[in-house]
Amino acid sequence: MMQTPWAILLCKFKDNDSEPYERQRYEDMFTSGGSGKLNMVDFFTDMSHGKLDLSGTQVFGWYTLDKNHSDYYFVENGKTKTRRGELLAWARQAAIADNKDLSKFFSVVVCMNVPTDVFGGPTGVVCDDERWQNGMSNLSPSILGQEMGHAYGLSHSRIQGSSEDYRDQWDVMSTANALMAPHPHFTELDARGNPIFRLGPGLNVANMWGRGWLDETRVWNASSQTMIDTIVELRPLHRRDLPGFLAIRFGDFFIEFRTNTGWDAAITPTVLVHTFEHNQSYLVSDNNGRQNFSVGSFIETPENMRIFGGYTGIKVIEIDSARQLAKIKLANAPAHVPQHLPEERPYRNPGVAWQDIINNDALVVIEEKVHRIPRSSPIYRTIEQIGLYENSTAIPSVQLQNAVRQEALTTIATIAQEQMQTLQAFREPALPATVMGSVNETMSTIILWPQCAPDSKGNSPANALGQPDGNVMGLNPNEYVTVKDFQGGFYADLLSLLNAAKGGDIVTAEKLARTDVIAFELNSHPASGRGWESSHWVFSDNVKPPLVVDWDERTGTGVPGAPASYPAEVVANGSTDHSDYAAYFGIDWPLGLGAVVVSYILFDLPSTIDITSPDFTITVSAWADGHHGEGTPDPDAIGILACAGQ
Ligand SMILES: [Zn+2]
Repeated sequence: MMQTPWAILLCKFKDNDSEPYERQRYEDMFTSGGSGKLNMVDFFTDMSHGKLDLSGTQVFGWYTLDKNHSDYYFVENGKTKTRRGELLAWARQAAIADNKDLSKFFSVVVCMNVPTDVFGGPTGVVCDDERWQNGMSNLSPSILGQEMGHAYGLSHSRIQGSSEDYRDQWDVMSTANALMAPHPHFTELDARGNPIFRLGPGLNVANMWGRGWLDETRVWNASSQTMIDTIVELRPLHRRDLPGFLAIRFGDFFIEFRTNTGWDAAITPTVLVHTFEHNQSYLVSDNNGRQNFSVGSFIETPENMRIFGGYTGIKVIEIDSARQLAKIKLANAPAHVPQHLPEERPYRNPGVAWQDIINNDALVVIEEKVHRIPRSSPIYRTIEQIGLYENSTAIPSVQLQNAVRQEALTTIATIAQEQMQTLQAFREPALPATVMGSVNETMSTIILWPQCAPDSKGNSPANALGQPDGNVMGLNPNEYVTVKDFQGGFYADLLSLLNAAKGGDIVTAEKLARTDVIAFELNSHPASGRGWESSHWVFSDNVKPPLVVDWDERTGTGVPGAPASYPAEVVANGSTDHSDYAAYFGIDWPLGLGAVVVSYILFDLPSTIDITSPDFTITVSAWADGHHGEGTPDPDAIGILACAGQ
């Protein structure tokens, strides 16, 4: 058992003396005094198969910080930012001034008295009592499990075929986009009758394994080099009290059974299959594309991938929730690589068959093992640089050869540094996605970008022209830019970029098909609304009356005065990761200072406006009147979607 006691620091700003709960609630939620009530001590005991012991956790405070609430925020380049690292330091200083020895503790959870922030990382966790749209408090195990999990090194969970975070609804590292249940012991309701405290789901088997938390004596294990045809009985993953296997490790696959009890109360009994790469779990879909396997669900090696007889199959035979048992059929045949040249046709290299399937990804062969590097992986870009470095041997000039090699190595170092920052950054829970679009279709979109800005007020209007390049025109109050003369080209698989990885709407193929205009702006983190900042838009073909669209960044957030629904012309509004954006458009890292998300907004214009006219213009202006959020967007690019499909 590993002792990881936490110091829970209850803190207030000096200009607000309120305390959202009595001290007892924090004791019950975090310390061994509340064990057995499904609190955080119980959670990490269960999720680590008993390897973690949080029983030494203590609650300190309330401490009054020598700061006002407003001191947590500052404005840089017109953007409101927060002092995350400093808040952790202020709280630690307050505890040290109270003679508490924090070195005895694994980490800290700072509980603020007023809505401030929620995040977790290697240096600690901050939470408050702010409520989600469903009424849930940040002080719920559903949220604390993820944020404290980050301090243990856990990453957000994903689904296979996507690099978006928060997509595994059966894993706590995807909350609040996950299956959460009302807490059975902390049962307060808000004014609307919604439960304030929620719990679950538990941690998936791949994430448990990644932390070394899985009890290997309770895991059925087989490598991909063995001939197997068997049926294995599984118990629910976190039920150490029941006899039998709790998980299966089968080649690269992790298999688990989950039922609707305890932390998983919101889950319909199901079998889940995961893979695990780069400290990230990926949920695998069954033969029907469903993520929650039911009886009859299977996955198997496709016929054209069964090279040299290699085969792997997983099938759910039975799920018996009454007996807390699932039966899984496993089949595996290792590949037999021929040691001699074939005498009969075809002489085709079987590796080519792989490339037919993998198409855009990179394949790296090291000592006979083939590694697949998806195009979406940041490592893909390093492979390109390695290729550049190796090919430089063909350059006759030594000086030029050195220059090429230095550039390749610098780029690799930059990519590595960027990935390190991503891994070390503070992270926070996702907004629950309202639409889960299919992003599997690969299609090309034709986007036309403006070449000229006939009218503007503000600095660098040319930065709003052309295709995305990371250079923005910052619109201050009363500033605007009008753009026209649209020209452009093909963009493949645009949907993969419009993925709401940083909040807002996932753009589906159906939504993209309706879109006439798309615009990108660079934003600080977190995006002020969930996407574009408040702005006025004027679309004109110089013949009909211009169409005016007022976009309020607070739309749908539920804050007082915010519109409930989008203007009719707005198809979607959301934010994607800045590094994905840079990679997609081939922009040199890094983007503009302070930008860590890129927001997109999509418009569907009525057919009364002729977007094909050479006189067609788009004008975007700041909407910074102090009543509609920030309202000072930084447009990088504004394009017309000529047509979709292909
Ligand atoms: Zn998180």
